[in-house]
Amino acid sequence: ETPAETVRLPKVASVQAAGSNPATLEADSISAWFGDHKVLEQVSLTMPARKVTALIGPSGCGKSTFLRILNRMHELVGSASLAGRVLLDGDDIYDRGRRITHARRQIGMVFQKPNPFPAMSIYDNVTSGLKLGGIKAGRDGKDALVEECLTKAGLWKEVRDRLRQPGGALSGGQQQRLCIARSLAVRPRVLLMDEPCSALDPTSTRRIEETIHELSEEVTIVIVTHNMQQAARVSDQCAFFLAEQGTPGGIVEHGPTTTMFDSPQDPRTSDYVNGRF
Ligand code: ADP
Ligand code: MG
Repeated sequence: ETPAETVRLPKVASVQAAGSNPATLEADSISAWFGDHKVLEQVSLTMPARKVTALIGPSGCGKSTFLRILNRMHELVGSASLAGRVLLDGDDIYDRGRRITHARRQIGMVFQKPNPFPAMSIYDNVTSGLKLGGIKAGRDGKDALVEECLTKAGLWKEVRDRLRQPGGALSGGQQQRLCIARSLAVRPRVLLMDEPCSALDPTSTRRIEETIHELSEEVTIVIVTHNMQQAARVSDQCAFFLAEQGTPGGIVEHGPTTTMFDSPQDPRTSDYVNGRF
């Protein structure tokens, strides 16, 4: 079975969020350096609202760096310097005067390794971002939000009777869904996911894929994945990143997922999606 033949998940009616408002995210000529080492060269990509965009490509080609630049995370983790613009519905998140918290509230991130606060309760994990995001909620509002976000993350039924237990007591897959619920609580307009299933078993992976599918109506999703079947199952469009020997990473080709798998323009894309390197 080739990835292209993988059956796509059916669209399930999603729980519509109050005021859900997915945005189109546009990277415009992004270049990035770590010191003198240029790791991204002129990357431009539009990630449309209500679509899932998959970023694929071998290790070290700059996918995680690109993803962090999309919500200014790289400013927190290291020394990357940057040229280019990132537009959230046309609004440059790097404009002078724009605060980093503004970007990071609207553009959430989920990582490869689930990172809930392990000693904090499941309930408090979900609401933990509210204060930082400048969102005020009373007790009833919080209760409703916790149920809503855990439901959207596909975790509510499993944890509704144990909301006071620590997040660290959950399985890996449940912890990742808890992290998704935590991200959703501040009502992001875009959700970035960096290999969110790489640390999970196949069943948990499938649950996360279903969640991604259902969320795409209310939050723009950008997912980095090494799993071509996963890219084929969950994404509407793909961008293939490559950093050839000694050159910075860039996008070789991007387009609708079916085109990328069935009739890619570039032989390197074809080789990659068919597992030939
Ligand atoms: P990918 O996610 O596609 O595997 P990364 O974005 O992690 O790629 O890395 C792209 C390049 O940037 C690699 O050459 C990597 O070694 C380099 N790099 C990543 N993070 C840092 C960092 N904090 N400091 C220096 N170099 C880095
Ligand atoms: Mg990476």
